[in-house]
Amino acid sequence: MTHLPNSLQGRDITYLLHPVTNARAHERTGPLVITRGEGVHVFDDSGKDYIEGLAGLWSVALGFSEKRLVEAAIRQLHQLPYMHLFASKGHEPSILLAEKLVQMTPKGLDRVHFTNSGSEANDTVIKMVWFYNNAIGRPEKKKFIGRIKGYHGITIAAGSLTGIPANHKGFDLPLDFARHVSTPHYWRFGHEGETEDQYSDRLAAELEEMILTEGPDTVAAFIGEPLMGAGGVIVPPRGYWPKIQAVCRKYDVLIVADEVINGFGRTGKMFACETYGIEPDILVLSKQITSSYQPLAAVVFSDAIYQGIADGSETLGTFGHGYTTSGHPVATAVGLECISIIEERDLVSNAARMGRILREGLARYKDHPMVGEVRGEGLIAAVEFVSDKATKAGFQPVGLAAQAVMAACQHHGLILRVSGEAVCFCPPLIITEDEIRELLHRFDLAMTDAF
Ligand code: PLP
Repeated sequence: MTHLPNSLQGRDITYLLHPVTNARAHERTGPLVITRGEGVHVFDDSGKDYIEGLAGLWSVALGFSEKRLVEAAIRQLHQLPYMHLFASKGHEPSILLAEKLVQMTPKGLDRVHFTNSGSEANDTVIKMVWFYNNAIGRPEKKKFIGRIKGYHGITIAAGSLTGIPANHKGFDLPLDFARHVSTPHYWRFGHEGETEDQYSDRLAAELEEMILTEGPDTVAAFIGEPLMGAGGVIVPPRGYWPKIQAVCRKYDVLIVADEVINGFGRTGKMFACETYGIEPDILVLSKQITSSYQPLAAVVFSDAIYQGIADGSETLGTFGHGYTTSGHPVATAVGLECISIIEERDLVSNAARMGRILREGLARYKDHPMVGEVRGEGLIAAVEFVSDKATKAGFQPVGLAAQAVMAACQHHGLILRVSGEAVCFCPPLIITEDEIRELLHRFDLAMTDAF
């Protein structure tokens, strides 16, 4: 598509390098420029309406026009637009939000450290755990085990925990402290005749073997998204988390639950740790915490880790980690308001109810010759395409069908996201039944076009 050089698209192509974008492909197509939002809809610069079926980047829980969040930001900007938290400075919204997070998250999580993004939060987790293990006298215990297809961010350290080759390629990642075990995807990797429980046993045994091979004294933590998001909405098989948790406990390996996508209702419970029976030592939150109206993430962690770090501050020196905008007052004020709205409107129950309707609607495609699996939990789902239903073979190039469906969706006014061979659904938590039905209708039109 050709764009006039002085159009927004032309200037975008001239001046920007986009995140997570193929630069040459982008030069050919230009951006889809979004100019405004209303509820679950966004509108492009020609006025065309789209249902944002991925809530931005799995994140805009309250939709694109929540005035209370805007007002909370404005109030805070008037009151105190900036103050940092370094060297014992403080401000009210960060204190209130930390208190709220400790109260609402699963028990055993007692302290909060704020960052600006999920990637920074996971970098922070790595540094906190290293500092903690240094402080309590086990400096060898430093390795992190993540999972293939796990997504934990994009910075050098968090990007190393991510298990998606496309995020490593060309960047000399992963760094050597990171290891990866298998993706818990029963439909694709379960053996013939193996039950979900048996498959989970096999994955727990694989983790145990890795810990033993590396040496338990060198393995600090296991990190996982309770339900994998960016890797393709992969729902853990029955029994998976309790079995993984038991292995971690046996070898004194900390459990990090990365709920950057899952947290605040996405899986139909406030936190996915409740959905899957996980008792993490560290919980990572971001995205829906402010509906992404402001950049904010939080690491919520146990008192034992806090005490180790606090003791370490006396012996190793100051916990010398943090960012200029860690716990920014405007972001934390918006976070407080966002959580209030999620609670007041009971959007967690809405996510469970709307998710059922979405997943029932998508289930009609189970018998489609090009569909391998329809999966999901709460208000997050995926449809995975196959070139051969019997062998579950994908496409060459990978994602060919999913890309075609996504493009057709965009044509029909529905924004989704592709991961591997799957298209992913993660609409705002505020979505109504009529809007889900309209989303499904637009998806139907796209499927008819694509195949
Ligand atoms: N962790 C998970 C589970 C994520 O899904 C993401 C982003 O999608 C991140 C971490 C990284 O967050 P950010 O993009 O804010 O750095």
